[in-house]
Amino acid sequence: MFFRDIPGYDDLKNRLIRSVHENRISHAQLLYGTEGVPKLALALAYGQYINCRARTETDSCGVCASCAKYAHLAHPDLHFIFPVATTKVVDSKPRSKDFLTEWRELVLESGGDFNLYDLYQKVGISESKQAIINADDAAEVVRTLSLKAFEADYKVLILWMVEKMNATSANRLLKVLEEPPEKTLFLLITEDPDQILSTILSRTQMIKIRSWTEGEMAGILSQTFGLTVEESNRIALLSDGNWLTAKKMALSGGKDGASSADFIEWLRDVFRLGTAKSWQEGNLAVLERAGLFARMGRESQKAFLLMAMRMIRFVMLQSLGTPNLVKLDGAGAKFSSDFSRFVHVDNAHLYYEHLQEAYSNIERNANAQLLFADLSYQLESVLRIPPPVD
Ligand SMILES: [Zn+2]
Repeated sequence: MFFRDIPGYDDLKNRLIRSVHENRISHAQLLYGTEGVPKLALALAYGQYINCRARTETDSCGVCASCAKYAHLAHPDLHFIFPVATTKVVDSKPRSKDFLTEWRELVLESGGDFNLYDLYQKVGISESKQAIINADDAAEVVRTLSLKAFEADYKVLILWMVEKMNATSANRLLKVLEEPPEKTLFLLITEDPDQILSTILSRTQMIKIRSWTEGEMAGILSQTFGLTVEESNRIALLSDGNWLTAKKMALSGGKDGASSADFIEWLRDVFRLGTAKSWQEGNLAVLERAGLFARMGRESQKAFLLMAMRMIRFVMLQSLGTPNLVKLDGAGAKFSSDFSRFVHVDNAHLYYEHLQEAYSNIERNANAQLLFADLSYQLESVLRIPPPVD
């Protein structure tokens, strides 16, 4: 991975590069930011740069022996730990190294842009399991790192989703962070530093990786995927700052997404459930629409729900008279005026909860047709909650 492969983040890249030039690399660094920001990609570019034999002022060379091995994630002094669970193939005591082949493939295919559910699918962990970074994994790493480096200047350990450590692993890691082996770099990656032991946090240099603004993301989308300005803007708006979602939408052609206008039409159908002439008529419309949503790709479904949440948030902030930082397109703004009496302090959180739950269930591969049908009936009951009397 090269720094130049990662769009944006010039300040942060410069800071990392300077730490190498000035020979003051902190031995433990925690890269944190929401799902979709390129934490792993930056960690890999940093590790590659540190160990490159012919680095330039701004990036690694790509051709030296170290870079060649980093390119395949197969450098003997590059180690990975990530959450694992048992699978059909590895049915007891799973460790990261049991899944290293799949891990490398996933990282290389995605450029480091993937989430825990993508990993589950790749290595065949069932959705019902909770993958963790377990103590065996942690112990093994401690052993490996205590050995001398094979060939690199720096041994690099990348711990991905470090919030998934159990207590025993966290303590093992803490111990090694307190007495770090020489020339070893720990790159911890997390979406949520609040879930990490404060004793571990205090041993690391924390680096926040911010999300791109909608404008930045639109620019990057059009540059990276050659999309039109309109298409880039639409995906940037729908993905709500999540690059992972945006990228998947762009790769799937970005054509199957539903818009804010579709959300409005859907809510109208849902509203008519109670007012339709016949039970059948109302339900048919809702089920048909659920079918339409179900035929979109998974990422587009997620993006659609994110946008729906954003619209609810917008109406709520509007009605509270709070300065509104959320931007909406034309249809969204119309929604705000048409639906303001259906979104209020007594039900806004319920819309949000149902949409959020549907979002999580899509990540867990729920049956989309059923999910959108259920969600329609849930939203109907929320829609019927009367606004508070002032
Ligand atoms: Zn190199």
